[in-house]
Amino acid sequence: MASGPIKRQDSFINSSNVVDAKLIVLAGPTAVGKGTVAACVRDEHPEIWISISVTTRSPRPGEIDGYHYHFISDAEFDRLIADDLLLEWAVVHKSARYGTPRRPVEEQLASGRSALLEIDLQGARQVRQHMPEAYFVFLAPPSFEELERRLVGRGTEDAAERERRLETARAELAAESEFDTTIVNTEVHAACQELVTLFGNHRN
Ligand code: 5GP
Repeated sequence: MASGPIKRQDSFINSSNVVDAKLIVLAGPTAVGKGTVAACVRDEHPEIWISISVTTRSPRPGEIDGYHYHFISDAEFDRLIADDLLLEWAVVHKSARYGTPRRPVEEQLASGRSALLEIDLQGARQVRQHMPEAYFVFLAPPSFEELERRLVGRGTEDAAERERRLETARAELAAESEFDTTIVNTEVHAACQELVTLFGNHRN
């Protein structure tokens, strides 16, 4: 990956100005709505590229391979690690492994397109080590009670899994100070807009 800011003619933002391609890492506790905010960016801001992670967990109903995640086997995940093809990876919620394929991120940034990673805290820390020029955004819930309510409300985890995720969330909330900025996810579209604005404001 080239070091230093990458310049391009950005036809989406301003056809006459050369701007920097930016890497923004969005992390935050489980069930805070990172996926929903990222989906909003994907739907409404095609100028921003969103990384598709690999994961060893099974698809949930409605999830599409190659769109929401690349659903892969443990053996395939092992191979990606061995070949150093992941920018970061982590075991999340003590269950499945998740990782960011390195090459697509590098290619998008090199082509001048800004990129968004929506990953967990362990992954964000790894990206900070490898790409300190990235900008780190913490998505926070309005309160812990609201986080609990959202986790129960979405109904995708059983009681034992919910408890495991809430335990992780408590530790993750304490990491907010490690981030460059915080967005409170009170309403998805407002949070999405705040995030997109950071792509315009942040300079490497
Ligand atoms: P879910 O299973 O609900 O889709 O995601 C569980 C958690 O994995 C979320 O906190 C999400 O941010 C995180 N995650 C998704 N993709 C990645 C990735 O590529 N790397 C890391 N470290 N975490 C990820």
